[in-house]
Amino acid sequence: MMADAESFDVIIVGAGSAGCVLAGRLAERGGLSVALVEAGRRRWPKITTIPAAVTLTFNNPHYDWGFTSEPDPSRDGRTEIWSRGKLPGGSSAINGMIFVRGNPADYDAWAELGAPGWDYRSVLPYFRSLETTGRQDQYRGDLGPLPVSAPPYEFSLTKDFIAATLNAGFPPTDDYNGAHQFGAGVVQANQRRGRRVSAFDAFVAPQLRKGRLRLIEGATTTRILLDGKRAIGIEVRHKGKTRQLLARERVVLSAGAIQSPHLLMLSGIGPAEHLRASGITPVIDMPEVGQNMREHVGVWLGVRVDVPTVNQVVQGLQPIKALAQWLVGKGPATAAMAQAVAFLNLGDPYGRSDLQFHFSPLLFAKELGWRKMVNDRLLAIVPSLNHPRSVGSIELAGPDPLAPPKISPNLLGDPRDIALLGQGIRKAQAIMQAPPFADHVEAQLDPPPADDGDAMAAYIRERAAPLYHPVGSCRMGTDAHAVVTPALHVCGIANLMVVDASVMPAHVSGNTNAVCMMIGEKAAADWATASSACT
Ligand SMILES: Cc1cc2nc3c(=O)[nH]c(=O)nc-3n(C[C@H](O)[C@H](O)[C@H](O)COP(=O)(O)OP(=O)(O)OC[C@H]3O[C@@H](n4cnc5c(N)ncnc54)[C@H](O)[C@@H]3O)c2cc1C
Repeated sequence: MMADAESFDVIIVGAGSAGCVLAGRLAERGGLSVALVEAGRRRWPKITTIPAAVTLTFNNPHYDWGFTSEPDPSRDGRTEIWSRGKLPGGSSAINGMIFVRGNPADYDAWAELGAPGWDYRSVLPYFRSLETTGRQDQYRGDLGPLPVSAPPYEFSLTKDFIAATLNAGFPPTDDYNGAHQFGAGVVQANQRRGRRVSAFDAFVAPQLRKGRLRLIEGATTTRILLDGKRAIGIEVRHKGKTRQLLARERVVLSAGAIQSPHLLMLSGIGPAEHLRASGITPVIDMPEVGQNMREHVGVWLGVRVDVPTVNQVVQGLQPIKALAQWLVGKGPATAAMAQAVAFLNLGDPYGRSDLQFHFSPLLFAKELGWRKMVNDRLLAIVPSLNHPRSVGSIELAGPDPLAPPKISPNLLGDPRDIALLGQGIRKAQAIMQAPPFADHVEAQLDPPPADDGDAMAAYIRERAAPLYHPVGSCRMGTDAHAVVTPALHVCGIANLMVVDASVMPAHVSGNTNAVCMMIGEKAAADWATASSACT
């Protein structure tokens, strides 16, 4: 142990969606010294507050880890960027701001799959205590640190899209985060007056101002320090030096679904054979660390319409106008990535929604690397799978802790996923053809083949893309192979927890930020009482 090692009661690695909520709540309660250790750092001006700045932060090394995935054999060997936030706020600071809790049946399925205490009735109070929505009832909260509401910018076709979903056979819902998820609704976003509010802004910044929490930014954790099978701290690279930080009570990994399993493996906790082959001495053989990774997969369907879309707003001098409007909390720069979302169940065995549809008032150009928008009246409808059967993995690329992990997406490894995505594409086309939205559609770009056979499968393989919602790589459960217990303690290693997207035992029916924040909220509430024993 280094002689000058600083010590804390609790060290949380990763100031992302879950880590910020956990750190902020522990600090608010008091009684523990908490260090929140983050590889990225805050930057000024704080462009992440501008919702439309996602086009500037995506794959930008100052904000985004920008991993490159391994060639995916299930999609013709394609590789792509796997975006992950690298700054205080984590992915919640660079994401599309779409706030979705998932379907109530998601959590009942979690409980059934071996996560007692995570059924809908048990998690609902934590979703409610996170948020301020202007509504306080049995489903929604109005006293939490995170503002959730529709962004001020209203695209002219959003209401027509929602009306068309009804005409295409979707059920109505008055709040997809309330009693009934199925159906379409105007997007709810984590924002206030058109400014993004990340998990860091809502939960950590107020505690930092009160001096109740230590944020160590620009510090990349390279391994967990273990004394036998007990976590006692972490090693970090900080300002060009290697430092050790000691934890008297607990180390918590909140580094996200890619990096939490990576850090476990770098510390000797993982599949023993793979660790040895990668030059790491195993401390404990845990075959499922990094396995079971699920990711939402979708297809961007482009539509040309008869009214201007955000694609045209970003051309010429228009961004300056949009910025001026944003300063007073208005205009297209306040828009979340989607204007509306819709959910449908075509046969999910747990009664969850199996398909989600994003209605986006813009379309990125494939030929311009998916980062630029052409000056045309284009928008996108994006059908995606909520519960893909295909399973990916995270593995070590070698013993170097600063080398990125190997991400194997295998997004369409299970043919049933291709078939369901095909049905999603047909549903999206039904919306395009339904009034009143159909009255504004001039053409579907790059339309799918008319038949649902091999040509459709090839169309999907060529276009299917991740939605940046990986989960499950440190799955919780009560079975022998679960990585963490339902109390989120790593099985077989004392004083070590994982609290982030990686613990989800199954994917959820929607975007993942709200769910990760709920996981942080519940971990904080259960902090003193949850048993660390493995079953
Ligand atoms: C581009 C993009 C768009 C998205 N859009 C949406 C959306 O609109 N709505 C939605 O609900 N979800 C969206 N998501 C997904 C959602 O944001 C994530 O699922 C969620 O934020 C993950 O939370 P987390 O706590 O698991 O990890 P993260 O929020 O990713 O946090 C992990 C943190 O750990 C830090 N870290 C990692 N490794 C280390 C290390 N070795 N040392 C120190 N720190 C480390 C990272 O820098 C990061 O800050 C999007 C994600 C991305 C990337």
